[in-house]
Amino acid sequence: MESNWKLYQDLETILYSREQIAEGVKKLGQKITQDYQGKDLVMICILKGATPFFADLMREIDLPLTIDFMVVSSYGASTKTSGEVKLVKDLDRSIQGKDVLVVEDIVDTGMTLSYLKRVLEGRQANSVAIASLLDKPSRRKVELDVQYSCFEIPDAFVVGYGLDFDEKYRNLPDVGVLKPEKYL
Ligand code: 5GP
Repeated sequence: MESNWKLYQDLETILYSREQIAEGVKKLGQKITQDYQGKDLVMICILKGATPFFADLMREIDLPLTIDFMVVSSYGASTKTSGEVKLVKDLDRSIQGKDVLVVEDIVDTGMTLSYLKRVLEGRQANSVAIASLLDKPSRRKVELDVQYSCFEIPDAFVVGYGLDFDEKYRNLPDVGVLKPEKYL
């Protein structure tokens, strides 16, 4: 709590410490390393929330791989999803015949990723799988397979380790629940 102490004051509780996150990401990286042997892996980072997770996860995967980036519309300054997904920045390179791993910060209703998955599958990828740091299964509105996730969390609004509220808190090294008075 010594560093970033002003940001920590806005948290109700810390859900996952940086040590727990590092451990979870390492395990996920090992599993992905096993599963993608001999495949042509492309990791896609969904900006901006997935950046710390993406940077840590790719360094836990002991395989040749390439990376690319996408921007889709998200919550903005609200904590509720609009249900509308817009592709703001597309990939730089073709994914035809590739084994795509979409890396996201959190799966909530599942609408963002189910849309993205459809878009990517339409581009003749060999496979499209999802890796998410966090998963809120109780909030799901559409059916979605999340092949790789570090932690399942209850229905609370979380920030830190890439996750924001109104573009803030992304630099917190831990994941915590934001005090409701900060966004209500
Ligand atoms: P979905 O389409 O699954 O409902 O929403 C996915 C996106 O909503 C995430 O990429 C993230 O930007 C945002 N989101 C969902 N739940 C949370 C949360 O608890 N905290 C933050 N900061 N963003 C969230």
